[in-house]
Amino acid sequence: MNCFSIAIDGPSGAGKSTLARSLAKKLGYLYVDTGAIYRTIGYYAWKQGVDPKEEAAVLALLPKVQVELTYGEDGLQHMLLNGEDVTREIRLPEISLYASAVSAHPGVRSFLLDMQRQLARSHHVIMDGRDIGTVVLPDADVKIFLTASAEARTKRRMLELEQRGTPEPYEKILKEIQERDWNDSHRTAAPLRQAEDAVLVDTTDLNFQQSEEALLTIIKEKTGA
Ligand code: C5P
Repeated sequence: MNCFSIAIDGPSGAGKSTLARSLAKKLGYLYVDTGAIYRTIGYYAWKQGVDPKEEAAVLALLPKVQVELTYGEDGLQHMLLNGEDVTREIRLPEISLYASAVSAHPGVRSFLLDMQRQLARSHHVIMDGRDIGTVVLPDADVKIFLTASAEARTKRRMLELEQRGTPEPYEKILKEIQERDWNDSHRTAAPLRQAEDAVLVDTTDLNFQQSEEALLTIIKEKTGA
């Protein structure tokens, strides 16, 4: 089967996952949230009391870890860690920085690379992350780099946490977003950057609908869908 792939990269809070999930539904593609895969490793390090910045300690965990990605009856992506569904746990606020720290280790990235590529070989996918257009799927049919100001991303994240019943103050979220932006774009292994052939979309002044229309226009232009 000739599979189409759409890569959406960008910093946290730019709207990647909400938009990708909705587009995948509209287009009949599989949505793959690669951040959830890194979060699963980050969660395991957290659970084991391992400092996520300690490369050797994190790499020593990998042989003990089995990460699986499945799709529930709800159609949503679920993460299994050694057979246990950790989809909810990996969203805990403290796991974000753990995910960001473990994802900086090249050994962790190569451990998870094949799994991501395999999904794109067997399905039409919309995959979001930080290095999809640059490393994971360099030949993706459509590449989008989605961004927004740190302030706009903080406000969206605040709303999301409020709706989830775990509110956090603005300053704390902004600081964490800035820290993750810095970590993700300054690491040596697959840093966050716009692929040369990616289309830049800045959603700072766009609402969900406008952002989705912008992405659909790009996708239609590139695939004729
Ligand atoms: O997308 P999300 O914020 O859930 O990702 C959590 C962390 O995983 C990011 O801050 C980033 O450090 C890492 N990540 C990555 N490469 C990806 C996806 C996520 O390094 N493709």
